[in-house]
Amino acid sequence: MAYTRQTIAPEEIARQEEICARIAARLCADGARPLAMVDTYGCQQNEADSEKLRGYLAEMGCGFTSDEFAADIIVVNTCAVREHAEMRVLGNVGALNHTKKAKPSQIIALCGCMVQQEHMAEKIKKSYPIVDLVFGPHELWRFPELLETVMTRHKRVFAADKNDGAVAEGIPLRRDGAVKAWLSIMYGCNNFCTYCVVPYVRGRERSRLPEDVAAEAKELVAAGYKDITLLGQNVNSYGKDLEGGVDFADLIRMINDIPGDFLIRFMTSHPRDATEKLFRTMAECEKCAKHIHLPVQSGSDRILKLMNRHYDRAKYLAEIETARNLMPDLVITTDIIVGFPGETEEDFEETLSLCEEVRYDAMFTFIYSPRVGTPAAKMDDPFTRADKQKRFDRLTELSNRISGEKHAAYEGKRMRVLVDGETGKAEYNLSARTNGGRLVHLRGDPALIGQFIEVTITASNTWALYGKIV
Ligand code: SAH
Ligand code: SF4
Repeated sequence: MAYTRQTIAPEEIARQEEICARIAARLCADGARPLAMVDTYGCQQNEADSEKLRGYLAEMGCGFTSDEFAADIIVVNTCAVREHAEMRVLGNVGALNHTKKAKPSQIIALCGCMVQQEHMAEKIKKSYPIVDLVFGPHELWRFPELLETVMTRHKRVFAADKNDGAVAEGIPLRRDGAVKAWLSIMYGCNNFCTYCVVPYVRGRERSRLPEDVAAEAKELVAAGYKDITLLGQNVNSYGKDLEGGVDFADLIRMINDIPGDFLIRFMTSHPRDATEKLFRTMAECEKCAKHIHLPVQSGSDRILKLMNRHYDRAKYLAEIETARNLMPDLVITTDIIVGFPGETEEDFEETLSLCEEVRYDAMFTFIYSPRVGTPAAKMDDPFTRADKQKRFDRLTELSNRISGEKHAAYEGKRMRVLVDGETGKAEYNLSARTNGGRLVHLRGDPALIGQFIEVTITASNTWALYGKIV
């Protein structure tokens, strides 16, 4: 495919930051301290985007609140992957009627994947008059400009036109937390799995330059971050749109070469193009966490074909075998869709048997949700919601059993974990992660947050491990 990667010029971002300064002068007149709230739904990419929204809002002089009545500006960063997420957004936005009534000057903005869909933007326009600003993922870089238009012209602004997307460097970031960081390495998706809305709302695959990614990783390490997750809808496609032939495995190696004690994680990896080179690189790079999230979606070849996943069960299992041969302790997690249109009992049994065969450390399971404009939404779907729920419950039961067994095998082991936060609970006040990303509850001094420490695992359940500091 002939394809030119679009970039946003640095002067454009500088212009946005000038607008932030103008907005700050307006909002902070007479010493006022405006408050903003950013409410995020969906995936890690959205969380990373919200850090950019907060970066801009901080430059506008805003402090942050989680109280929607106190906020002067509310930004809801939405998700469109399943209907459930959209319903939650619409419910919560509906509830903002009360806050806007109490504070008529409040500005309410909706952004992200949900509003990039034409039918949703229309729905917001017609049925949610309290929403002042709507912008899709491709317009995030010019959020300040859009917000200023709302403020100065006192009109509603809608900016979610069809767009392949671009790469914008230099947007200010305000990260959540000081131990773990998201690092976007690419945007968009070209895979067009038949059930998925992402390629329609996030545009075509486009990679950041390796030097930009490496520079940001260096900054993170220098700032003391210990756990860096490289983000993309399909990180295995990284670099395909760049000159110079750098691929994802090369990028991992570049980041692994940065001096310092930290972990590299990544998501998501598509089984279609997870290569032996990738697994070998993971094995060889000492900073790369030995965890892979490799969404299989289904164990049935018939369904995988209908999903347009470009791999079959045998190829998937061969990848797992290669990866485990290179990394015997590899933690493997997955996503599974239950009740894809026309999925029969036999198809579902194949998913169950694949899960038994792989023995995932954790599984993220979803009931299929039809998405407007996707091919799967037009496929015949003879099974009822109740049928699908029954299958879903069986899969959950299997998943919980295997996770519980896998976790039990950690008991008595001594391991290195990264302490990443407080739990708010008295008995186990700290949370930590193993190299493979399993959650460990501990009791200890909060000063340990951000440190790698040795623990012995003393107990476990389906969801977590419990440990004692050595
Ligand atoms: N790019 C990632 C995942 C993006 S969406 C990947 O390819 O793995 C995250 C997960 O949501 C998917 O792996 C899939 O399991 C689930 N999902 C996506 N669309 C869905 C739909 N229409 N209904 C139910 N689950 C869906
Ligand atoms: Fe959606 Fe498939 Fe792209 Fe993942 S790879 S975002 S599931 S289309």
